[in-house]
Amino acid sequence: MTTPTTGCRNTPVLRERGQREVFCGLTGIIWLHRKMQDAFFLVVGSRTCAHLLQSAAGVMIFAEPRFGTAILEEKDLAGMADAHAELDREVARLLARRPDIRQLFLVGSCPSEVIKLDLSKAAERLSAEHAPHVRVLNYSGSGIETTFTEGEDACLAAMVPALAATEARELLLVGALPDVVEDQALDLLARLGIGPVRCLPARRADDAPAIGPNTVFALTQPFLGATHDALTRHGARPIEAPFPFGAEGTTLWLKAVAAEFGIAPERVDEVTAAPRARAEKAIAAAAQTLRGKRIFFMPDSQLEIPLARFLTRECGMEAVEIGTPWLHGPIHGPELDLIAQGPVISEGQDVDLQLDRVRAARPDLTVCGLGLANPLEAEGLATKWAIELVFTPVHFYEQAGDLAALFARPLRRRAALSGLAPHLEAAE
Ligand code: SF4
Repeated sequence: MTTPTTGCRNTPVLRERGQREVFCGLTGIIWLHRKMQDAFFLVVGSRTCAHLLQSAAGVMIFAEPRFGTAILEEKDLAGMADAHAELDREVARLLARRPDIRQLFLVGSCPSEVIKLDLSKAAERLSAEHAPHVRVLNYSGSGIETTFTEGEDACLAAMVPALAATEARELLLVGALPDVVEDQALDLLARLGIGPVRCLPARRADDAPAIGPNTVFALTQPFLGATHDALTRHGARPIEAPFPFGAEGTTLWLKAVAAEFGIAPERVDEVTAAPRARAEKAIAAAAQTLRGKRIFFMPDSQLEIPLARFLTRECGMEAVEIGTPWLHGPIHGPELDLIAQGPVISEGQDVDLQLDRVRAARPDLTVCGLGLANPLEAEGLATKWAIELVFTPVHFYEQAGDLAALFARPLRRRAALSGLAPHLEAAE
């Protein structure tokens, strides 16, 4: 596919700072605890935080969970108890009972921030106490001024200063992908002759990568701005590329990484021919439903810009507005270059104003948070929950068809409900 003569990189951005409708960063614990198999996430928060985690993850727990909440009671909030002493006791109890834990994350919340509980000091103290078996780190998952994918970003950024130093020339893949997807990426890179490759986060503490001046890193998620900056500060160099969503995105991502290792784009075309053809075929099936449909992204998952690029270029959709919580120039620039001018690019949210724009535009599909989806559906507008996009494997060639199908499904459902199903069902 050709690059538009004028992409959206220099499109004036509509910046809004008003009321927002998003989940908080604690949500990331749900996928991070699955990825890091010897980590424990201890939220220092309130019963509300505990309920959020339980309801988001409750039904998915089959083994002893690797996350929990140290509940701040009223006396803690009123400053009548020494929260640090209680935290030390809780952590000691937890680690004595769970020798499998090698990394412990103290996760800050709105309540811990309100009482100014210094979790970095606590992490330092507890790390010294429980080293070398357990490393204790901290980050904030607080809902104030954040969105739910920022939890992963804050977690990975907190890990960077603790990584060992190396002079080795290595590629670092950054982002918590499901294991099966990460294995596919590693296999593609190995077939291109690229290596050694390390992952952040690693599945186990002992496999943690080291970084240094010869490390180059490729993000696999577009919401890792703080991690990108932390890695750069520690001497690693980013590879700028579109993200591996869709056949085109995956190919461009691989070509950017390959170029860094002196491998020609033709070699990438050759090695990826079979999975790329499978991906294109699967995307084409879903694109029958998506072609010509108008889509509106509300700012939520921070995946909006790469997904808009995928849906407009590979599925024939038209983007009306692409809202993102944060716009990070170096990370989103290569994506914006590929999106033809036309859609409004907005950063941040003023939810009422944005809902007015949705109602005026009446798009065929609105990607938004759970709280906005039901009211919009009641007004006759089809929606897609943004949070599904981080719980479903969607990266690289083998998942490209599933990614397109995620957007086709609500349109097919709506068409079926209004009696227009037969020709759309054929596209399934
Ligand atoms: S961190 Fe804040 S927004 Fe998140 S569940 Fe706790 S109180 Fe609610």
